[in-house]
Amino acid sequence: MSESANILDTSIEYLKGVGPVKGELLRKELNIHTFRDLLLDFPFRYIDRTRILPIREIQKDSLVQVKGKLIDLSVIKAGKRARLEGLLRGASGKIKLVWFQRIKWIERALNLGQEYIVYGRANRYGSGFSIVHPEMEPSAGQSVALALQPVYHSTDKLNTKGLDAKGRRQLISNLLEKLSSIKIKDNLPNYLLERLQLPTRNEALYNIHFPKSEQALKAAQNRLKFEEFFFLQLQLLYKKTSRKQLIKGYDFPTVGQLFHTFYKEVLPFTLTGAQQRVIREIRNDLKSGVQMNRLLQGDVGSGKTIVALMSMLIALDNGFQACLMAPTEILAQQHFSNLSSNLQSLPIRIELLTGSVKGKRRKAILEGLQQGKIDILIGTHALLEPTVVFSNLGLAITDEQHRFGVAQRAKLWAKSKPYPPHILVMTATPIPRTLSMTLYGDLDVSIIDELPPGRKPVKTIRKSDTHRPEVMEFLRHQIHQGRQAYIVYPLIEESEKLDLKNLYDGYEQILQYFPLPKYQVSVVHGRMKPEAKESEMKRFKEGITQVMVATTVIEVGVDVPNASIMVIENAERFGLSQLHQLRGRVGRGAEQSFCILMSSYKLSREGRIRLDTMCRTNNGFEIAEVDLKLRGPGQLEGTRQSGVLSFKIANIVQDTQILQSARKIVTQILGKDPGLAHPANSVLKKYIEGQKRKSNWSLIS
Ligand code: ADP
Ligand code: MG
Repeated sequence: MSESANILDTSIEYLKGVGPVKGELLRKELNIHTFRDLLLDFPFRYIDRTRILPIREIQKDSLVQVKGKLIDLSVIKAGKRARLEGLLRGASGKIKLVWFQRIKWIERALNLGQEYIVYGRANRYGSGFSIVHPEMEPSAGQSVALALQPVYHSTDKLNTKGLDAKGRRQLISNLLEKLSSIKIKDNLPNYLLERLQLPTRNEALYNIHFPKSEQALKAAQNRLKFEEFFFLQLQLLYKKTSRKQLIKGYDFPTVGQLFHTFYKEVLPFTLTGAQQRVIREIRNDLKSGVQMNRLLQGDVGSGKTIVALMSMLIALDNGFQACLMAPTEILAQQHFSNLSSNLQSLPIRIELLTGSVKGKRRKAILEGLQQGKIDILIGTHALLEPTVVFSNLGLAITDEQHRFGVAQRAKLWAKSKPYPPHILVMTATPIPRTLSMTLYGDLDVSIIDELPPGRKPVKTIRKSDTHRPEVMEFLRHQIHQGRQAYIVYPLIEESEKLDLKNLYDGYEQILQYFPLPKYQVSVVHGRMKPEAKESEMKRFKEGITQVMVATTVIEVGVDVPNASIMVIENAERFGLSQLHQLRGRVGRGAEQSFCILMSSYKLSREGRIRLDTMCRTNNGFEIAEVDLKLRGPGQLEGTRQSGVLSFKIANIVQDTQILQSARKIVTQILGKDPGLAHPANSVLKKYIEGQKRKSNWSLIS
């Protein structure tokens, strides 16, 4: 082990100024255990001591840094609640400071008459300004005299134990001094530093804490962000590369009778260019001798099912079985009935296996499967059970809303011997490219970015509640033209009771606009028994009912081409991607479809952006971009449990260019040196080896 590695692994309490008590606090409060952890806990902000705003130049609702003397500090009681108010006098005026929480502690920590640098958001207060809960920093006696001072995350407990802003800075300063005799080793190869003109890791780590200049800080941030993206991409792409080298797959050399017959005689339409391209990509994978791991992204209605079907036919043509797994029973059933009717003229046996298939029926399916009499099996998670044994599974397709877990994937992989089946993962949740690079970075990706021809984009409009009669009149008109309509109510997870109340109140109201027996209305919600739900949906599908009142359960599954209107109640309460998924239920037929977003007149800024975005575009990828910007990566559908998005300094929304360049460079490096065997890449090899030891390194993704 190198010297630097040794020092960085030292337990944090041995740092000058820490000791056992503070050491325990740092561990508990900030998860800082070693010198390395402290070194890698970067400042979240810098105080630019050269940029003090004169108090008289403060603008409303802006972040400001001002300097002045604390000339008053008093607790003000207002009823039960108390607040602390301070007055800061600078060269050009005064500003009020206000605290509502931790008053006692703050009062004790501040010194009347002292000069402070104060940071926070300034708001109008009478004729002047005030800052609520400002960050306060004595302007004299700084431990390090630098223009840019780091500010670290802190907590109350740390603050009271002397690890406030100043204390934290002192610690880092002690650490850097301790480290000054050694050079922190670089983890990027030299040739990259030279080519990209990046500062060394050593230099970057010094400058991220105590920047020599604005420029040095930028360079340090840049380098450290690059590094984070780079190593994640290296891990993902290395995995992908080694999987391709190590994991053989069944070779499907022929495109045979079934595929051709279907293509020439059954396929009821011409494939779109995107569908053709994707089928070609899949065909190439299937005859490569390497196991396919491909993600197929395509908006709702883009025609993924036919791609799945034709891929399965290739497997069948080569003497293999195929399966298709869907997240819900409804979806599985729908796939089953669609595929069965599409394939009825071909000599193919296709079966459906879900949790509700039991007894003799189940036994027969399991036997047929094992004996190779069943060619295609459609189903839910039930397919993963150990009792489900294939004779020779060649291709497994999952149609998923969210990514199935690795454990589930592993079960799928194990369903075939000697090789794992080829895997195709289909998703209708469009993900911005930058995000799919990180989330699905180890898969090959195909995208259907074209809708079938003749599809009229759904017209989306926003209406406030006062327009309800007009909206209902419009619905009635459409229904008289033979169309059907969905009316969707939001689901508030905290209160299922309230949801149902909303739904049933809505239902009552709908019945007044659409009275029996002239009109028929279906109701579907998550609390219903599956059979009841099923029969209500069936009635709607068969056109017996004209209106379907539902909670978001219809988001997945329902496919009724004649339904051309969707009214979404309280649309501001839905997330963007959910609105988009819901809207995907209409616009499936030849008629012009409509989506009406009902909302209250007053909206939050984000609510307005969401609804405006829906009205502006039907493009799922564009919508996903906006969603990503609004909510940040952590909140996006399907990414919540994924740890890959927790970066220390990089930001997947703001630093997309750095991400793209990291991805490109990793691709180049692995293209030239897939095993990272070249001496110049030895640091990278070491990193990968370390990851393998540390994590549950699995080639299954
Ligand atoms: P999704 O990608 O949402 O799964 P589907 O596969 O269900 O979309 O396709 C939506 C509808 O479009 C289906 O009714 C399907 O038959 C039809 N469709 C698919 N591809 C084409 C095409 N190339 N031309 C015309 N209609 C198509
Ligand atoms: Mg689909």
